[in-house]
Amino acid sequence: MRKRPTRAVRIVIRGIVQGVGFRPHAFTTASKHRVTGWVSNALKGVLIHGEGAPSDVRRFICALKEDAPRMASILDVSIEDVKPGGYTGFHIRVSRTDGQRETLLSPDVSTCPDCLEEVLRVGGRHHRYPFTNCTNCGPRFTIVRALPYDRTSTAMSGFPMCPDCDREYRDVRDRRFHAQPVACPECGPTLWLEDASGRRLAEGDAVWTPLHGMLSGGSLAGIKGLGGFHIACSAENPSAVRMLRERKSRPRKALAVMVRDLETAREVCRLDSDDAEILTSPQAPIVILQRRDDPPLRLADDLASGQRSLGIMLPYTPLHHLLLSGDSRVLVMTSGNRRGMPLAIDNQEARRQLEGITDVFLMHDRPIVRRCDDSVVRPTDAGGERVQVIIRRSRGYAPRPLILDAAVVGDAGTDVLATGGEERNTFCLLSGDQAFLSQHMGTLRYEETVEDYRSSISDLAGLLKITPQVVACDLHPAYRSTALAREMVERGSMRLVRVQHHHAHHAAVLAEHGRGQRTIGLVADGFGFGDDGTLWGLEILWADPGAYRRLISMVQVPVPGGERAVQRPLRMALAHLHTFLGDAEAARMLGRFRGHGEDLEVALAQCRRGINAPLTSSCGRLFDAVASLLDVCRRSHYSGQPAVELSEMAGWSTSGYPFSLDEHGDLHLWDLTGMWEALCRDVHRGCAPDEIASRFQRTVGDMMAAGVRKAREITGCTSVTLSGGVFQNPTLLDGLCSILVDDGFEVLLPCEVPINDGGLSLGQAAVARNAPRGGSRHVPCGARSNHRH
Ligand code: ZN
Ligand code: ZN
Ligand code: FE
Repeated sequence: MRKRPTRAVRIVIRGIVQGVGFRPHAFTTASKHRVTGWVSNALKGVLIHGEGAPSDVRRFICALKEDAPRMASILDVSIEDVKPGGYTGFHIRVSRTDGQRETLLSPDVSTCPDCLEEVLRVGGRHHRYPFTNCTNCGPRFTIVRALPYDRTSTAMSGFPMCPDCDREYRDVRDRRFHAQPVACPECGPTLWLEDASGRRLAEGDAVWTPLHGMLSGGSLAGIKGLGGFHIACSAENPSAVRMLRERKSRPRKALAVMVRDLETAREVCRLDSDDAEILTSPQAPIVILQRRDDPPLRLADDLASGQRSLGIMLPYTPLHHLLLSGDSRVLVMTSGNRRGMPLAIDNQEARRQLEGITDVFLMHDRPIVRRCDDSVVRPTDAGGERVQVIIRRSRGYAPRPLILDAAVVGDAGTDVLATGGEERNTFCLLSGDQAFLSQHMGTLRYEETVEDYRSSISDLAGLLKITPQVVACDLHPAYRSTALAREMVERGSMRLVRVQHHHAHHAAVLAEHGRGQRTIGLVADGFGFGDDGTLWGLEILWADPGAYRRLISMVQVPVPGGERAVQRPLRMALAHLHTFLGDAEAARMLGRFRGHGEDLEVALAQCRRGINAPLTSSCGRLFDAVASLLDVCRRSHYSGQPAVELSEMAGWSTSGYPFSLDEHGDLHLWDLTGMWEALCRDVHRGCAPDEIASRFQRTVGDMMAAGVRKAREITGCTSVTLSGGVFQNPTLLDGLCSILVDDGFEVLLPCEVPINDGGLSLGQAAVARNAPRGGSRHVPCGARSNHRH
């Protein structure tokens, strides 16, 4: 006779626990601890009935949490004692909710150690098979076509399982139980190599020897991967890297590399155990790390010219592991697109788009349903605390939702679409307390990207079955994302909420941290359309997710020629000198820059007359001005280049230049006259540019800190959020955080969403939920009582 159980519990596990192998995990864990009962998927998580000896049940609960599957993310576990049901075994119940929304949310996951071991092990079914995956790893978001999530509604529909795969798929004890994309050489997708004219050179496992040879020989290869194509070449071969830059018209921007393994990563960059953990995480993003001064493995100088940092990632599919197993242990892996175009995902499209760029293609026949670029993160010290700043949140992260706290969730019955910004766009769908941030959409400037953006919105909304009643967008009238929002409102019955750019930046951080109360928000970025029609940039707000007041800004300067000044940063130097040191000093500077004369002549005239010279308090443009004056960067090829190159050379001085912070009506303004006087004096004296750059960087930090202290004086608040693209600069972020933390501030940083404009859409969504009807508004300080009920 079986001993009667003495304890029975009903366990509800909430979080991302469906479609990630949680039920098999519960099954094996139950067997191990002699617990009987059942497990099933419920609407918002996993429901378990377990019974057995009290000590066994206790261990069972612990192990459920602690040994949870790699892709699971547990939010909370509730346990309730119930009447025993007299179960003799443990069963997986197939529930009606199987395949509903929750199971769909899994991002793509990098190859797990078990699968990698199988790929490397000689003799097994999966030996050297590039599409090996299991419940704990493999493609998800990029192969799903529709609900419910089963094989027939994925890109695997054309590959019926062979009997061996089918057996594993049905075996509840198997690692491949109910893993929809499972495949083996018998039944799954295949690889081939083709030349630029489309001629097949090799197939299957025979592709590797010729491909490795071509890569070591300096060829450029188009590689079809998980969320799109890459362009690959040997990172150790300077002429290959140069050729890639030429053919892709990408003269300066840093190139990311994929390295064979952690050991190789250590030969190239300095990395500690935290960095290693991010590199090997299920998300497997590109991690920006410091290059070693004495690298045992020398890479082409041209990868990230003049930069101390390098973006590296590890192979994240078996295909990539095999790709990196040749002579080249480090490959440049840059996105497979032509400038301004979305990443190629379709074979035919790749052949067309990459014609003239790649010499050879590694193709496969598993369709990529959804475009998903590599994610980029930068581990940084922020005032002594290690944080992970997200530069691009895409593959591995999207579309995992952020669960919003009740304090910021607002009117939860309203579903919201937030259309995001213009650069590094993401959009956000907010339903209930779940905020789904889209994959990276890129810059919405070119027709093809905008088209992709539009279809991605309907795609994700359709997939998640969200029908927004509200659409939120930026204030900028010329953003394509604003135009789309307006169009949707005109077409349908949606309500429009327009959100000021910097308020959205700040609200994104508040949303992530569940802060509903008014907080100081320091936002530093390039341009954001202000409620006064000027281009804001360096701002301190006093705001909650519903409304804001602008407390502090910078004395505005003209942007002579608009966009042209962004590409020609010397124009911004001229504008700053004209504003802070006067016309004579600006005119004198003209003489110093031969070759730029005529262009700057025009710019100075624009500053003088205020024609085609919109006003800005941009922090990004301030970096541009200094970078160009110091001749760090006089021609910007990509957004933010002068700031990136300046911050790469600059350190953090013990003291900065003088500046002042003065009251002007209800606003305080940073005045940079003192800084520009002293900085120009240093330039004339012939001080080393990196010294000047370091003092400048320190000045920006000091200005920011002084502003935040002033905001504390005005509001009494001691919490501050930091956001905006300028904080991608690790030295500034760390330096400022140190000052603020020492000064007793609680510093809130975005860690789940991009710190740059990629995070805007979450903030817009939060504002749409919390703002009184009519949208994000400038409110007089203290004039508004808390509007939440
Ligand atoms: Zn696996
Ligand atoms: Zn098979
Ligand atoms: Fe911004």
